[in-house]
Amino acid sequence: MKIETLAVHAGHGIDSTTGAVALPIYLSTTFERSKDGSYPQGYDYIRSNNPNRDALERCLCELEGGVAAAAFSSGSAATMSVFQALQPGNHIIAPNDAYSGTSLLLREIVAPWGLEVSFVDLTNLSQVQEAIKANTKLIWVETPSNPLLKVTDIVKISAIAHQANALCVCDNTWATPIGQNPLKLGADLVVHSTTKYLGGHSDVLGGVVIAKVEDDFFNKIKNIQKIGGAVASPFDCWLVMRGIQTLPYRMRGHTENAMKVADFLNNHPQVEAVHYPGLKQHLGYQIAVEQMQLFGGMLSFQVKGGRDKAFEVVAKALLFTRATSLGGVESFIEHRASIEGVGTRTPENLLRVSIGLEHADDLIDDLNQALD
Ligand SMILES: *Cc1c(COP(=O)(O)O)cnc(C)c1O
Repeated sequence: MKIETLAVHAGHGIDSTTGAVALPIYLSTTFERSKDGSYPQGYDYIRSNNPNRDALERCLCELEGGVAAAAFSSGSAATMSVFQALQPGNHIIAPNDAYSGTSLLLREIVAPWGLEVSFVDLTNLSQVQEAIKANTKLIWVETPSNPLLKVTDIVKISAIAHQANALCVCDNTWATPIGQNPLKLGADLVVHSTTKYLGGHSDVLGGVVIAKVEDDFFNKIKNIQKIGGAVASPFDCWLVMRGIQTLPYRMRGHTENAMKVADFLNNHPQVEAVHYPGLKQHLGYQIAVEQMQLFGGMLSFQVKGGRDKAFEVVAKALLFTRATSLGGVESFIEHRASIEGVGTRTPENLLRVSIGLEHADDLIDDLNQALD
């Protein structure tokens, strides 16, 4: 079935005891055993499993074309579980422009445990090839990247990983399963922060890992989920499931608006550069056309006049909310270097925007008056 149909129905069904059309929220922490000591419904304790989490995991498998999934309490917990499934002494290759939380996690938690990490430019294939070592076990991909929207070739990076007997894991948060399907492009695992587009309404924190095959590595992740305990709550799973039902239509709206805003900024005299994979001049445009179904709702731009001008634009914005995060129905604008803090590689004149579902003309009018 097509993605719109899956988004509405995957993991959903009529509740057999009440006929409820919307999935009930199961808050029970524990489940009754049979007289013979077994659990006939398959549920024993909320941390091990729960009907809402089950439903969300099944839904996400269908959307990404995976066979198994593990839902976590945040995107960062999902990311963490992948690194925890490795061993001390293993080597990880990660992008030098990964989501700042992922870079922090690698530098401050994963590396001190004895895992080696190399940060490279994943859009430069020979640099990736050169970074491969005998103990390389995983290449972490995030595309489009944050905040420069650089596009990494998932097919080629997966091939490099597999040749080295390593896994290719793709953080697909920005593209969503509607915009890009890394498992079909060769990746072994997909990670999402469901806090963003999947939830879609800036009101729920969550994450997920989805696997192409249910192998030992994925079973370790499942174990980390269950024993480590950073699981998604029933209500949070329910909210993400509801968000997903409208995801295909929201992503079309986000993309259509972002394309219009990118075109407007591209022709504005106060703007020095626009980073959006849907613009023909973007360095990753050709790869994006090949591997993405939609370019998505995220873009960034650099203003003339440096940090001061960037702050002025953000201060003058009326419709865009000054907030971090992304993927909600409302548009956000932020000075990215400020949120990333000390050591950031992000240019001081760069503003990142999450384009929401307002009318594109109103968003353009707001940016126009803010840039004036
Ligand atoms: C937000 C985000 C994360 C982290 O997710 P949380 O739900 O905030 O923990 C990871 N990767 C990307 C690309 C993100 O945008």
